Amino acid sequence: MGHQQQSPLPPHVLIFPLPIQGHVNSMLKLAELLSLAAVDVTFLVSDFSHRRLLRHADIHSRFSRYPGFRFKTISDGLPDDHPRAGERIMEIMPSIKNVTASLFKEMMVATDCFRSDGRRPVTCIIADGVLSFAGDFAVEKGIPLVYFRTVSACSFWACFCFQEIMEAGEVPLKGNGMDLLVKSVPGMEGFLRRRDLPGFCRVDEVSDPRFQVIKTETRQTPRAQAVILNTFENLEGPVLSHIRTRMPNLFTIGPLHSHLKSRLLKEKTTTTLPSTASGSFWEEDRSCIEWLDRKPPKSVIYVSFGSITVLSRDQLMEFWYGLVNSGQYFLWVMRPDSIAGKDGKSQIPAEISEGTKERGYMVGWAPQEEVLNHHAIGGFLTHSGWNSTLESIVAGVPMICWPYFADQMINSRFVSEVWKIGLDMKDTCDRALIEKMVRDLMVVRKDEFIRSVDRMAKMAREAVSGRGSSYCNLDGLIEYVRSMVA
Ligand code: UDP
Repeated sequence: MGHQQQSPLPPHVLIFPLPIQGHVNSMLKLAELLSLAAVDVTFLVSDFSHRRLLRHADIHSRFSRYPGFRFKTISDGLPDDHPRAGERIMEIMPSIKNVTASLFKEMMVATDCFRSDGRRPVTCIIADGVLSFAGDFAVEKGIPLVYFRTVSACSFWACFCFQEIMEAGEVPLKGNGMDLLVKSVPGMEGFLRRRDLPGFCRVDEVSDPRFQVIKTETRQTPRAQAVILNTFENLEGPVLSHIRTRMPNLFTIGPLHSHLKSRLLKEKTTTTLPSTASGSFWEEDRSCIEWLDRKPPKSVIYVSFGSITVLSRDQLMEFWYGLVNSGQYFLWVMRPDSIAGKDGKSQIPAEISEGTKERGYMVGWAPQEEVLNHHAIGGFLTHSGWNSTLESIVAGVPMICWPYFADQMINSRFVSEVWKIGLDMKDTCDRALIEKMVRDLMVVRKDEFIRSVDRMAKMAREAVSGRGSSYCNLDGLIEYVRSMVA
């Protein structure tokens, strides 16, 4: 009797993001792209984030299509009632290092790297670039390691140069030197001011643990066999050339949300855009879409500061007066935990909820990609998180940037000075300036901004379709992952 030919088991990738919204969002999209290519994927996320993801029914239907995909969970070491917002989000880094790192090692050993029936032990670890302990494990066990940095290339490169920035005395940032140009980040000498450096530089001493942790996490990136960035060549080409001098095996595969849509469309040969946005930690309030449906084209400014930003009462009032006085319609995402009250409680003042009704609408969390693509949206007042920036570019929506911390400080400089697709109001929060910027973006300089962002949107779409750079690079990454088991 002849024996039956068994087809070889597919590669098995472990994807391990830092468990906060922006990181989980983009790494989940990569997970789906690899699942589409019939790669087995184990997605390891904190149990806290997992519970929040699973509150939404569509995450089940989205991933049940892929038999090779599964979630696994691990503790992030923080108590459930930790706010995980504002500056306190940084507490997740030491917690993960102290608690998650050893749990991870134990889990990998106990499960023989997630081996199971019909599944190889993990053949490649794709870890968030700030989780160096996962890299330590990969190196120790000889498992191929790929780092995914979820931030922009410009931010990643500036962080990579922290040592040089420090040696040049350009940090710590001091009050009156904030507008001096930074000389020690190759490629950015002409336009990067000290105030545009990633927010981790805003420390009194370079020994500050927040600065040190990002410096060391970033500096160890080149030990990975490859690095993935959620960007595209035409957007950040010059910076990417600098990164390649240190990390030549670099896969730029973004914008991932758009890339995923493009591949799903191709796969299903359908003309309806499939939903890819179900990685939210909060319930999306879709009533804002009906509100937008009743507004004229490009007449509404969308206001959202992402999943971490916390506003003081004073800032909240400045934004509100600025928006109301601009005379434009606005749709504002006010997360339940996004206002710092004196008592630590989050509350929208009655004055705001009442006074917004005439030209504004508020929701606790929006279906952001859909909102940005709505014909009524003409501008985005954003905190310049990297996912939000890419989503705005792809939707062809110009931005007003109010960066809060971290990579957002440099993203906003690129939006205004390099790509010229918006305005940067960093380090100010004043109603008169907000009113002026909203008018400039939506009325006075509208055509100029729309022209440049439309050009960028077209390049983004090309990157993720057919023979585009990100499309080819993802094919290259999939081949690379397959070659590890050949
Ligand atoms: N987002 C959303 N609804 C909202 C606000 C944000 O779906 O009301 C999503 C947004 O589309 C983006 C992510 O949350 O994908 C925020 O990530 P980003 O990198 O912009 O900022 P972060 O939250 O990490 O600061």
